[in-house]
Amino acid sequence: MSLPSSCDVLVIGAGPAGSSSAALLHQAGYSVAVVEKQQFPRFVIGESLLPRVMDLLGEAGLLEAATARNFIVKRGALFLRNEERCDFSFADQFTPGWDHTWQVPRADFDKTLADAVEARGVPFAYGHEVVAVDFAGGPKLTVADPEGKEQTLRSRFVIDASGYGRVLPRLLDLDLPSKFPPRKAVFAHLRGDRRKPGPDENRIWIVCLASGAWAWIIPFSNGLTSFGIVGPLDAFRAFPEDPAECLRAAIASDDNFERLRHTEFALEPRTLGGYACSVKRLHGPGFALVGNATEFLDPVFSSGVTLALESANRASRAAIRQLGGEVVDWEQEYAAYMRRGIDVFRAYVSGWYDGSVPRLFFNPQAAAPVKRMICSVLAGYVWDVENPFVREPERKLAQVARLAG
Ligand code: FAD
Repeated sequence: MSLPSSCDVLVIGAGPAGSSSAALLHQAGYSVAVVEKQQFPRFVIGESLLPRVMDLLGEAGLLEAATARNFIVKRGALFLRNEERCDFSFADQFTPGWDHTWQVPRADFDKTLADAVEARGVPFAYGHEVVAVDFAGGPKLTVADPEGKEQTLRSRFVIDASGYGRVLPRLLDLDLPSKFPPRKAVFAHLRGDRRKPGPDENRIWIVCLASGAWAWIIPFSNGLTSFGIVGPLDAFRAFPEDPAECLRAAIASDDNFERLRHTEFALEPRTLGGYACSVKRLHGPGFALVGNATEFLDPVFSSGVTLALESANRASRAAIRQLGGEVVDWEQEYAAYMRRGIDVFRAYVSGWYDGSVPRLFFNPQAAAPVKRMICSVLAGYVWDVENPFVREPERKLAQVARLAG
């Protein structure tokens, strides 16, 4: 589809954050265009969603299109460490909310959302890359088409949903290193997972490994299974450097991977390092950053797409009000709000790597009400301040971890 030379809002990137932003702005009656560097479907990692995603897709009018894809229903998460198990079920949680979500091959999921928004008349320019920006005198974006020919697009507002591309953080010098130590991930899609029929068949498994790394097993409805290992760099010393050999060695190293011992790679194994990132600010005159273009913590609690959709929702609603002539306090209404939710997840990610969260999860005496409150955090309901484990995450986690010994 060809791009208009001007519109109300230009969205950079057609991932979940970009598509849902475009959907909300279009719903509100503004003219929107989406510029996407790649051709869809394209691979991106981030396949396990959280129930909060369902609320956000609903608000953007995208729930029906995604439901029609029959993705595997995710009703909770199973954490394993040798023979120890800790099962969370979203049906049993503190905050009223969705009791399920999905496990999705992102190529398919992201294309579904983008197609649904394009079908409403929003132009998506695939294969087009934003290469320069100028915010003096109103937003102006330089976009290169697949042949490298450049054109200038003007808008009243820009939403940067460029994910790992981090367009505005790079071009406006907004990048900030993450406070987390460097970690890496090695992952692939596998064919031939011998899923054990029963309640765990479709469950996402998070397996703690002896080396200090952890692994995910995410079954998909297309018969493939996503498998990945994550951890601090020294936790990978036990495994070969080559990503395929690394995954094979990890599978051989732990009995919880028995089901994967006869699999073959359906997607070439990949390594991704240094993915945790942050930004100096989430907004500026004429623009807002959403999704992974802002901050990414860690994959362990599958918070990425949830935070991407939450930030897209919040920023788009603020932009709609601003375009309508209202004065918006972006710092309070957007940045401070997002920071509160991100900081809740940050506390759990820190606790995961310092060992206090696994100690709590694998404590068979963990009280049911505590598990219910933590389950709501794992479901993505990290703005419910009625939940003590949201209101004071560090203190509550330290308290229960102490009790767990
Ligand atoms: P993306 O989905 O990355 O989309 C951004 C789009 O912008 C891309 O399509 C890109 O092509 C486009 N773009 C980039 N640059 C330009 C440019 N210059 N011009 C135009 N377009 C551009 N999250 C979860 O929720 N669950 C998980 O299980 C999970 N697992 C993860 C595992 C690992 C190892 C890692 C590193 C991350 C994981 N994540 C997970 C996080 C997840 O990948 C991201 O949070 C999510 O993809 C963010 O979506 P987004 O819409 O912000 O960006």
